[in-house]
Amino acid sequence: MTLRHEVTELLQGLLRLDTVNPPGNETRAATLLRSYLGRNGVACELIAKVPDRANLVARLPGGDGPSLLLMAHTDTVVADPDEWSRDPWSGDLVDGEVWGRGALDMKGHAAAAAVAFASLAREGACPPGDVVLALTADEEVGADFGMSWLTAAHADAVRVDFAVNEGGGERCVLGDDVYYLCSVAEKATSPFRLRLRGRSGHASDPHTADNALLKAGPVLEALERLRPPRTLIPEVAAFLETVVGEAPPVEVALDRARALHPLAGELVAPLLSATLSPTMIQASRQRNVIPAACVIEVDCRLLPGQQPEEIEALLRAGVPGDWDLDWILAERAGGTRSGLETPLWRALQGWVDRVEPGARLAPIVLAGFTDSHYLRRAFGTVAYGFFPLRAMAPQDAARLVHSADERIAVDDLEAGVDLFRHLATTIGA
Ligand SMILES: [Zn+2]
Repeated sequence: MTLRHEVTELLQGLLRLDTVNPPGNETRAATLLRSYLGRNGVACELIAKVPDRANLVARLPGGDGPSLLLMAHTDTVVADPDEWSRDPWSGDLVDGEVWGRGALDMKGHAAAAAVAFASLAREGACPPGDVVLALTADEEVGADFGMSWLTAAHADAVRVDFAVNEGGGERCVLGDDVYYLCSVAEKATSPFRLRLRGRSGHASDPHTADNALLKAGPVLEALERLRPPRTLIPEVAAFLETVVGEAPPVEVALDRARALHPLAGELVAPLLSATLSPTMIQASRQRNVIPAACVIEVDCRLLPGQQPEEIEALLRAGVPGDWDLDWILAERAGGTRSGLETPLWRALQGWVDRVEPGARLAPIVLAGFTDSHYLRRAFGTVAYGFFPLRAMAPQDAARLVHSADERIAVDDLEAGVDLFRHLATTIGA
């Protein structure tokens, strides 16, 4: 059996297991992966905070070079079968694509990492440093059963120098050149609530009350007008240097990226400043009661290195009215970064050189959050997001993630196995 067939079959098996989080039930996936790895002579550990939410960890001992983690999460977001043209848990193989919830995010990556790992193990490979495989629970909800918990409670199992995770690998043609995106950092999520106060009263007699909901109008309008200061962080400067040849002043950075290609503009747009998106509002729970309080909830994303205090000053200066600010501290996360010129970067560029001579790696910052954050924070791991996405246009793939008809090309799965084998055998060598 070829590695191509092996990874396709393993992914089909994973997609047929429902690991929608919540509740997750990732032990199903961990058990399947353990028996696959066991058949290839790999001993793995299932490490679980609660029985249904197991993480799988395995180690291939290498020399005294840098250690490398191949990592993926085994949970998925929900899928509504009515929206799909196939059963989201079918694992069907159609015209060279494997269908199912999680094919792109990120059971395909998990299957490719497992097959690369198993194939190296059965060949008796001795990589330059230890290669660790961690296929973990609970990335989509983040209730501390997966990588966050492992880095805290089982640090020795996942402490590594380098890690390859989700969040990059798209092949992009920008202008006349081909690039592969590699995510090296993430924005921080730092949500908050604005509380507006009034005085309750009977809705039939508004004059006696002070309606807090009505105060939300000017506050929302002001939030829309706020322009968080723009700044060119080093990763975005490096991206622009790579694709347009220089890091322009921040005022024209977006125009320069768009002029090269609309996709370059889309990539850069959320990375030039913090963003503030009001998404939820709550006032009276009864129609005939004028609300004494109104709470607006805002999704706020900071650039790596930016502090929430900068946003607080912006709000005080630009949002009128009498409101209280409550940061939702329990949901603050992310904002970590890894360096650019590293052995992992060179190993990735080495793979790109082999599969597509002339193409270049371009660094990108994720506007969202991944488990890379926990490794960077706990161990200073250099964690990048990269999984080859060559068969499908990046915009098409982005539309399928967390949406209907998610699927992955077998060609990309095969390329993923090849990539991980390349990294495991060449990093630091
Ligand atoms: Zn994911």
